Amino acid sequence: MLFDSFNRRINYLRISLTDRCNLRCIYCMPEQGVPKLIHEDILTYEELGRLARLSVGLGIEKIRLTGGEPLVRKNIGDLIKALGEIPGIRDISLTTNGVLLAEKARSLWEVGVKRINISLDTLNSKKFNEITHFDFFNQVWEGIQEAERIGFSPIKINVVALKGINDDEILAFGRLSYEKPYHIRFIEFMPVGPENGWSAERFLSSEEIINRLEVLGPLFPVNGQDFDGPAKRMAFEGARGEIGLISPISEHFCPSCNRLRLTAEGRLRVCIFSDDETDLRTPLREGVSDAELESIIRETITRKPKEHPLQMNPLPRKCQRQMSKIGG
Ligand code: SAM
Ligand code: SF4
Repeated sequence: MLFDSFNRRINYLRISLTDRCNLRCIYCMPEQGVPKLIHEDILTYEELGRLARLSVGLGIEKIRLTGGEPLVRKNIGDLIKALGEIPGIRDISLTTNGVLLAEKARSLWEVGVKRINISLDTLNSKKFNEITHFDFFNQVWEGIQEAERIGFSPIKINVVALKGINDDEILAFGRLSYEKPYHIRFIEFMPVGPENGWSAERFLSSEEIINRLEVLGPLFPVNGQDFDGPAKRMAFEGARGEIGLISPISEHFCPSCNRLRLTAEGRLRVCIFSDDETDLRTPLREGVSDAELESIIRETITRKPKEHPLQMNPLPRKCQRQMSKIGG
């Protein structure tokens, strides 16, 4: 098992497969995009497979593939298959914006992905264009429906709460959790990346979201399970789905943080809000041994901070790396 300096067990690795994306969400990337990594800078599947195998050997049990948009990376099924064959891996999941999901859901299912997180901040196609700068609402909705038909479970819908932009849809998302077996997860807007439009005026806390949702009826806590992560889970009585609240700003979940992040160019990051990273690609390509790589990973984990410095007052300082490069 892997523990950090504060005795937290580290068993979750988020891998960003690419910095590229087919959307430009206002809270994540500027409309014109950001300078892209060149192909050679991005870890190959072979390199990712090796790092994943070493990490699992050290104590990682759960891997999430993210990005940028993971489904724009070619032959992702080959990677998922290889990851699934690592002895000791217990869970592989994916976070996607859903644009390519309708066409790829079946092949993801066949290589072993059984649950999925899809980001969708609005149920209104015009607003979808405003938030993402693309006209793909119907594709994303069709992707969600296809995932449901195939049997993915749970289907988690990630909604970044943006005051003045989509907070008028909180109840519509709440109602969706009655009708559909989806876990609607509201995520507090985080100040990550230099141009992500974060401001206190745009910020909506989980507490405010719950207060608004309770117009629909009382919310009951749902018992957590293994791998739940930091979401506070709740549900309306009689609902098919659930509500989740992820509160990185208003309620630090640092004491239970179990995660590491690997960026697309192979930098290991110990905290989403800290730009302290370790380059794994260089030693990997210099041909160091497994034992040396393991010791670099272990040393990096010792630098995982006790908690992040963000709180609402004073206003949070932004970390410089773009969310699309960190993987959320
Ligand atoms: N492109 C994929 C997607 O959007 O699902 C995966 C990468 S995206 C960076 C991962 C998650 O981070 C998404 O659910 C997205 O909504 C969330 N995210 C991005 N920027 C955020 C921000 N500033 N605050 C809160 N969540 C954010
Ligand atoms: Fe792309 Fe996901 Fe960032 Fe939106 S949140 S721009 S879909 S990486």
